[in-house]
Amino acid sequence: MTGHDRETRRLVVLGCTGSIGVNTLDVIEHLNRDTADPGARFEVVGLAARGSAAAVIDQAKRFGVTTIAMADQEAADQVAAALPGATVFRGPDAAERLIETSDCTDVVAAMVGSAGLPATLAAAGRGLRIALANKETLVAAGALVTPIIRQHGAQLLPIDSEHSAIFQCLHDQHRQAVKRIVLTASGGPFRTVDRQKMQQATVEEALNHPTWDMGPKITIDSATMMNKALEIIEAHWLFGLSAQQIDVIIHPQSVVHSFVEYADHSILAQMGPPDMRTPIQFALTYPKRLPGCGEALDWPTLSELTFHRPDHDKFPALGLAYEVIEAGGTAGAVLNAANEAAVAAFLERRIRFGRIVELVAEALSAVELRPADSLAAILDADRRARAFVDQRLAGTRQSATVT
Ligand code: MG
Repeated sequence: MTGHDRETRRLVVLGCTGSIGVNTLDVIEHLNRDTADPGARFEVVGLAARGSAAAVIDQAKRFGVTTIAMADQEAADQVAAALPGATVFRGPDAAERLIETSDCTDVVAAMVGSAGLPATLAAAGRGLRIALANKETLVAAGALVTPIIRQHGAQLLPIDSEHSAIFQCLHDQHRQAVKRIVLTASGGPFRTVDRQKMQQATVEEALNHPTWDMGPKITIDSATMMNKALEIIEAHWLFGLSAQQIDVIIHPQSVVHSFVEYADHSILAQMGPPDMRTPIQFALTYPKRLPGCGEALDWPTLSELTFHRPDHDKFPALGLAYEVIEAGGTAGAVLNAANEAAVAAFLERRIRFGRIVELVAEALSAVELRPADSLAAILDADRRARAFVDQRLAGTRQSATVT
């Protein structure tokens, strides 16, 4: 006996204080309040975050959550002190332990970076329904996660707006007729800035995204277009498509979220305002479509939708995605970890903007690739890629001091 209402689904939100986590909780509040469908009601039974104790405490009170995972020890102490009676897991594997011990049915996986990998893998191993926003899981460990999902009857539903769009436009009976998918990209803040100027961009300029309001890691990834590179690899694993079947087009308005082109030349696209609550709700309520709480698209204001090819010389991250798919093994883990380390260095103002993708490319050629056949192999590749970037950064500092 769990003591739960049988129809109410039980949700754990991994990464509850980030942009996706906060939007997810807004969607849950809306569904619980506004929908008559008991199958679309959720009890939030677990929250996981890195730090941000005050925000987690507020959320736990708002949703009556008594099981919490905090990666940061000090934040865990604050949460435990504020919520007597709550179970608080602490430390780097806190989220994973929360998933392993929870009686949840659904997980929103929205932790940032490869830190989210072990907990997402644990959810897959338990056969849970996973609404996935943590694209790094598939980029680093697609080869490992995909068979575990199949084997344990887990379900993976994309939250990423582009992948939600593709998911909505792909029809099972037409899978063999898919010619290619096209992921749309806003082009980020440097779409119209010339290459030389972009290379020297400041942190403030790179964080100023024109259409999407997101956390700092993904916003920098959008500026380098590494975000689209990660999404190409994510699409490869989610939809079982080859590198040749995945294309990217720049669409600055972010209204068409992606499209599928079929063999008969029909194209199915999914559109909506740039509001993450729409794909989050679809992932949670799929296959149902229920009234949304996000903005609706205001058709009369849509004066133009434009599309153009990306500049691969200016944004070399895109080419790296195709190389990673072809290389296989731990290449995705290396790309992802090198990028996380390089983005962190840029945000700390230790390297110029243009150096981020250079470091990732250097890591891909220098770090030895191995089969991605275990979590240990993936975490090892992750560690070696970060060590490589650290070494390069230390070298840069030394030579700077010498000259
Ligand atoms: Mg996206």
